Amino acid sequence: MASLEDLPIRDDLRGRKPYGAPQLNVPVSLNVNENTHRIPEEVAIDVVGAIAASLIDINRYPDREFTELRSALAGYLGDGLTEQNLWAANGSNEVLLQIFQAFGGPNRKALGFGPTYSMYSLLALTSGTSYVDAKRADKYELTPELVVQAIEKEQPAIVLLCSPNNPTGTPLSLSVIEAAYEATDGVLVVDEAYAEFSASESATSLLEGRPRLLISRTMSKAFAFAGARVGYLAADPAAIDALRLVRLPYHLSAFTQAAATAALKHSALMLKTVQDIGYQRDRMSVELAAMGFEVFRSEANFVLFAGLADSAKSFEQLLAQGILVRNVGIPNTLRVSAGTEEETTKFLEAAQDLVKL
Ligand SMILES: *Cc1c(COP(=O)(O)O)cnc(C)c1O
Repeated sequence: MASLEDLPIRDDLRGRKPYGAPQLNVPVSLNVNENTHRIPEEVAIDVVGAIAASLIDINRYPDREFTELRSALAGYLGDGLTEQNLWAANGSNEVLLQIFQAFGGPNRKALGFGPTYSMYSLLALTSGTSYVDAKRADKYELTPELVVQAIEKEQPAIVLLCSPNNPTGTPLSLSVIEAAYEATDGVLVVDEAYAEFSASESATSLLEGRPRLLISRTMSKAFAFAGARVGYLAADPAAIDALRLVRLPYHLSAFTQAAATAALKHSALMLKTVQDIGYQRDRMSVELAAMGFEVFRSEANFVLFAGLADSAKSFEQLLAQGILVRNVGIPNTLRVSAGTEEETTKFLEAAQDLVKL
């Protein structure tokens, strides 16, 4: 068998490792911010019915414009949006890739504010876009001044603001987004993967009159639909026309379209666990702080906490007890998703034995 090094691979990919949060079969999986609750049976039955019905026409390509799904997503988001403002792909990762393909590329720069979602720099790499990481302020907060200064310095084609931010949980006020939009000539991507868990207002209210504002969302987190791979975007119809230039034809399968449309008909039921997850997140924040850890302000479904003597050792110690969390590479910290009450309890009990700084 040949090794990767023997192949004529692109120079900039040589020696790289693929993205990979460990996928391990453990009792308590709190590492990739999934909704750990299963979807309600009633929704599952409808989803199966819709997928089965879509089989009748499976000899044909699916609706390339997935109009029904876009209209369901517009209805879900509200804010006066119509199907013209909506776009979707196989996970918001694919939406983000399409944004990089349409607005990034050679001789163009993307700007993110780290620590932030690790896919941004990887998408920049694979699309030949250069990537600049501007550091966040104390406790990972962002201010309009900090963001505007970085934009003015770097003149990026793509600005990425993750709200709430992964892996820190930090929410973002609309004033930061408004200031960033004014400061850039490029596109401003607001990644709202965790919006449903947040008390802060969604940037969808800012879309009117801002054609370079792209708001990315996903059904993977609050919606408990990670395995279906559905992410979406709200933006001006002109921005969506740009994504049409780079998307693969028929990129959303008939099964995906049917499943997502059926699930969206039950959005209230699908989001029923969100409140409890928020409660478990706040409980983790309070209890971890009481144990003496520093816990960062989170409006997502996870918390980042600091004060561990050794992140890697703590990660292994938890794993040995069947609890999988995420070592995001920030020294002395770990990130943990809020699970069910039982899962969260197991994590908190185990956390008491972790060695502190
Ligand atoms: C999980 C996540 C996504 C992507 O999820 P998909 O499953 O591809 O929709 C996007 N952005 C952030 C910040 C995330 O944490």
